[in-house]
Amino acid sequence: MTLPIMNSRHFRYVGNELQVEGVPLSRIAEKFGTPVYVYSEAALLEPLDRIRSCLSGLDHLVCFAAKANSNLSILRLFAGAGAGLDAVSGGELFRARKAGVPADRIVFSGVGKTEKEMEEALRFGRSGILAFNVESAEELTVLNRVAERVGRQARFSIRLNPDVDPKTHPYISTGLRKNKFGLPRAEASRLARYSRELRWVSLRGASVHIGSQLLSLAPLREAFRNLSDFAEEIVALNIPLSHVDLGGGLGIPYRNEEAPSIESYCALIQKEFGSNSRLAKKTSLRPKVVLEPGRLLAGNAGVLVSEILFRKKGVSRNFLIIDAAMNDLIRPALYESHHEIVPLTKSGRSRDAVFDVVGPVCETSDVFGRARRLPGSIARGDLVAVLSAGAYGFSMASQYNSRTRVAEVLVSGNRTRVIRRRETYEDLIRGES
Ligand SMILES: *Cc1c(COP(=O)(O)O)cnc(C)c1O
Repeated sequence: MTLPIMNSRHFRYVGNELQVEGVPLSRIAEKFGTPVYVYSEAALLEPLDRIRSCLSGLDHLVCFAAKANSNLSILRLFAGAGAGLDAVSGGELFRARKAGVPADRIVFSGVGKTEKEMEEALRFGRSGILAFNVESAEELTVLNRVAERVGRQARFSIRLNPDVDPKTHPYISTGLRKNKFGLPRAEASRLARYSRELRWVSLRGASVHIGSQLLSLAPLREAFRNLSDFAEEIVALNIPLSHVDLGGGLGIPYRNEEAPSIESYCALIQKEFGSNSRLAKKTSLRPKVVLEPGRLLAGNAGVLVSEILFRKKGVSRNFLIIDAAMNDLIRPALYESHHEIVPLTKSGRSRDAVFDVVGPVCETSDVFGRARRLPGSIARGDLVAVLSAGAYGFSMASQYNSRTRVAEVLVSGNRTRVIRRRETYEDLIRGES
């Protein structure tokens, strides 16, 4: 069996045993129980390092999109490696503070920020966060008012809706005219001019984010060109732009898709915003490039380990019922997304058989994979790993069906550490009366 999507250095079979870094996953399951999310520290840091090295020479900041995986230890790991954070709620700002992310490395995105959240961002650190990504004129008016009340100037970027089709799942496409995100160019321009009349806000940047799991650079190129044009226009208004925020969205392989390499993504960024870019030539400006990757950093750095509860023979298919469910990893049910499912222990002898791998939740959509090939001898008590579960996995987990949320474990070399304990029944009713 091959593992097309796993980075062979961090998740690989040693003999017949699937290991994460230096530790057999079955040992982790034995020690911490199942279901359990397991992350590799080296795998988390590798894409970040690669972005860093291929953008060296260009002033840049990588702000990890916390919604992809908001565990404190992981946020702290990225912060310690020099990354910033892209927050989309007051709760994520709170996490950023707990994880020690410096204020000047935080951007705040989202179409619906409340006044309370604006205030929290303005009070973050000694002088507030790096930038609000503002998405409407009304939002800017309110931000100006909140900033006055707090007595701190709010730095902001305008999020452009470039109207490009990212050719991804409609639920994760954000840069089309019909999507709720960002402002169309004419509105964005109007907002840039209008902002000069507001005393408590300061326009510092322009941003885009067109969607997630993008498997081609073409829509990004188009979005970057639109952003670059818009940045030029802002500079022409005599507003010194300090950064351009290129959002996130670069896709990863979940099976055998060809995702653009990090290096080709960097080359595109260098071309559109580097020292030889049209923007640099026309404006003599070198705005810092801010990136907001989520999935790219965390997606292939984590797996969900689960135990087989039962095998069941149906009329037209065979089922494997595992102890993980859609409340633990909702991507297959929500986006019909594909996750590879592999046994933790390979069986040399047994022929493969075909199974639908399903969870225990009372919903027909609680399916991890249909018609999957797994060893025919696989049985109750055996363990499987659902791969590429490091992003939008635990962070989207719920307690649906009153299922306690699972534990998360971080592996570094031979060291394993619980970074979130398994919930108890008491956790289920906390706050209820
Ligand atoms: C979700 C999101 C991201 C991260 O997207 P990925 O596809 O995980 O890289 C970045 N920026 C914004 C504004 C987002 O909403």
